[in-house]
Amino acid sequence: MAKDTTIRCSLCNRDKKEVKVLIAGLNGHVCDNCITQAHSIINEDATHAASKQVQQALTLLKPKAIKEKLDEYVIGQESAKRVLSVAVYNHYKRITYFHKQNKEDLEIDKSNLILVGETGTGKTLLARTIAKMLNVPFCIADATVLTEAGYVGEDVESILTRLLQAADYNVEAAEKGIVFIDEVDKIARKSDNPSITRDVSGEGVQQALLKLLEGTAVNVPPQGGRKHPDAKMIQVNTRNILFICGGAFDGIEKKIASRLNTRAVGYSASVSAQEIDKANLLQYISPQDLKSFGLIPELIGRLPVLTYLKPLNRSTLRSILTEPKNALIKQYVQLFKMDNCKLDFEEEVYDLIVDKAVEFKLGARGLRGICEAIMNDVMYEIPSEDKINKYTVTYEYAIEKLKSARLTQLQVA
Ligand code: ADP
Repeated sequence: MAKDTTIRCSLCNRDKKEVKVLIAGLNGHVCDNCITQAHSIINEDATHAASKQVQQALTLLKPKAIKEKLDEYVIGQESAKRVLSVAVYNHYKRITYFHKQNKEDLEIDKSNLILVGETGTGKTLLARTIAKMLNVPFCIADATVLTEAGYVGEDVESILTRLLQAADYNVEAAEKGIVFIDEVDKIARKSDNPSITRDVSGEGVQQALLKLLEGTAVNVPPQGGRKHPDAKMIQVNTRNILFICGGAFDGIEKKIASRLNTRAVGYSASVSAQEIDKANLLQYISPQDLKSFGLIPELIGRLPVLTYLKPLNRSTLRSILTEPKNALIKQYVQLFKMDNCKLDFEEEVYDLIVDKAVEFKLGARGLRGICEAIMNDVMYEIPSEDKINKYTVTYEYAIEKLKSARLTQLQVA
């Protein structure tokens, strides 16, 4: 019998005429059908692995373990960390058991959060650390650029575009992600007077956010914005997306104080007037205060977990500089280590950096700029100096560098 010399796909045995493309390898051939099929198997596997990864992380971490992880990166803010750990645990417990639930089981509500605290106190850091820990997609959205649909600015759906991008367009992963909406205080109602011209970037945005926060299927433009009106929309269900909102709510202490005062005078006040720690009123914050500030009750209702972050004092700033797992000082030491140079700092240098951050009212955000101003020249010189394998940043050196640095240089965010 004559030998069959037809070239065939080594996997499915189809011959050349039955397929569009047949790619030759060293010892065989593969057809386009098999490639497409293999590709989709790999994709499916990756999606499955991603969701499995989320599940695994979630079953492992109890609130205490979550808080311990947060402790590695975020200094202080005990109250916020505890509240966040519980909310995140409950949220992902809800997701994990969602599919296993019987119809008659109690449905657990979503625990979206709102973090109130001055800028630079660690709100974004908390949200980012949680997402990293759980290995879920994470994005930050700025509430100030959002406007009601149809007006100049971004639609609220653009928030989900960012989340999709962070998830590499894996919709299933994005649907379990975390969104941090920053500066939510800036979309507070501008005025109590409804007759005022339309409040498209305030109350309008709050209204638009409602459907996102409560959990619905949203059509998301994959590239975001309105520049690609013809782009095919991707449907994302927000039911299991955890939304964390953050804001400074400048001046909210006055609202808290006046509420506490009226209550203290009234009946059965929970905190008596004498007990009130006037220096840190934020700890008494309640949803009512957010309402007085200008958030609409429907939005507050969809952000049921409320917590606060304390302003950073000197000792916290000092700890932030040296203690977290990725503390700034540790990063410089690591950078020098890569050039085989052991970097040290005189203790007084840390105090000096903190002093400057406090003096310029830059908070933790300013620490980086100040460090850069001190370190830039040595970082320029050292890599070319093969013989130097140890360097100590002295107080005198640091003060000299800071004197020559301009304030604007220090204000690096
Ligand atoms: P916010 O979102 O409250 O405005 P961020 O979380 O963006 O502030 O904080 C700004 C920077 O300051 C962070 O990158 C982090 O390095 C540092 N930082 C702020 N607060 C803390 C904290 N409590 N612990 C550690 N680092 C902090």
